[in-house]
Amino acid sequence: MLRFARKLIQKRVENHLLLSAIPMAGLDFEATYGDNHDILKTLAEEGVDFLLSCEGKVPLLECKGKMICLFFSAHWCRPCRGFIPHLVELYDTLRKRGISLEIIFVSFDREEDGFKEHLKSMPWLAVPFDVNLHRRLIDRYRVDRIPSFVPLCSDDVTVEADLIGCIEDYGANAFPFTKKRHEELKAIDKRKREEANLEELLAQEGCNFLFSGDDRKVPISELAGKTIGLYFSAYWSPPCRSFTRQLTDVYNTLNDAKDSHCFEIVLVSTDRDLKEFNVNRSSMPWLAIPYEDRTRHDLCRIFDIKGIPALVLIGPDGKVISENGKFTVSSYGAEAFPFTESRIRELEATLRKQGEALSQQVEDVKHEHVLKLDMAKAYVCDSCKKQGKFWAFSCDVCNYDLHPSCVEKVEKD
Ligand SMILES: [Zn+2]
Ligand SMILES: [Zn+2]
Repeated sequence: MLRFARKLIQKRVENHLLLSAIPMAGLDFEATYGDNHDILKTLAEEGVDFLLSCEGKVPLLECKGKMICLFFSAHWCRPCRGFIPHLVELYDTLRKRGISLEIIFVSFDREEDGFKEHLKSMPWLAVPFDVNLHRRLIDRYRVDRIPSFVPLCSDDVTVEADLIGCIEDYGANAFPFTKKRHEELKAIDKRKREEANLEELLAQEGCNFLFSGDDRKVPISELAGKTIGLYFSAYWSPPCRSFTRQLTDVYNTLNDAKDSHCFEIVLVSTDRDLKEFNVNRSSMPWLAIPYEDRTRHDLCRIFDIKGIPALVLIGPDGKVISENGKFTVSSYGAEAFPFTESRIRELEATLRKQGEALSQQVEDVKHEHVLKLDMAKAYVCDSCKKQGKFWAFSCDVCNYDLHPSCVEKVEKD
């Protein structure tokens, strides 16, 4: 076996996790993370006395005393290439925090050219190219898929099974890569989702502001007391662009009509780059989370956003009103404000009453067919050409809609 049980050490890891949300330097890696010498010994026995970095040879001994993680990957594999930027961010962040971590890349490449190309994207070390040696390491660590990230810890430390997903989701916060750590992170997400404290949700270390459309920095504290919509959207998506127009109408209606600025929207962009983000934002009168801010990514995970556009509505009391604000806004518009369940029930009761007061069908002087009473989300009235919502008199034969107030009934003799 490669990993050795060390009960006492696990205790230390647990205590450490209890003490701080973000693990800091000061762990005794040599003791905590199993027998790292095992991999160094294995490599030495294989006749490897140096590792490679993109700059050149690095003596094996430089890894001594560090927490070592093996990274199994191949240049021809798209998911591997997609994962590397996440790992680079983690590696840089942890090392900046003073954590003595080393990653050693073991290649699944069959050609040395692919191996070399792949190594160029990595700031860490690699086992020199040797297909047979790599194969033995792959077997030894029972790696059956790539990318695979294998921290070498003692047997008592349960490593998170989906470490690749965990690192993609949480970046450097996934450290020290245990199942327990992943569960802690998920619990923090759950609490954030339930408590919806805006400062906690939107602020990042050293960044507690949002951008307004005219590039002013707006402190997050200014959102207090308002109803907030977190708007997940990207410019490349046509449904987003169409919903942005609807949302803009609602936003303007509410903020023009009320004395105070009661409704604020925060763009959580999923645009592919800064240029797209700026185009997206330029069509919006509300605030945006800075593009370089990791909060965008965190919010998508916290609210489990599976598709865009999506709108999460948060009340002035900091409680989530609805995670399906898109449906609320597109079905009821500004009338639904403040978007609470009780307001929606009230609105629906009013609509029902209005419907009951109308005829089921009418004949109109401007139209040849009979028009039937219909509940439409939104329509354009064929008489006055203005937007309509909710009740309409619609034609089954052709595409013709009238506001109930625009019907001019046929005079019957
Ligand atoms: Zn009309
Ligand atoms: Zn018709």
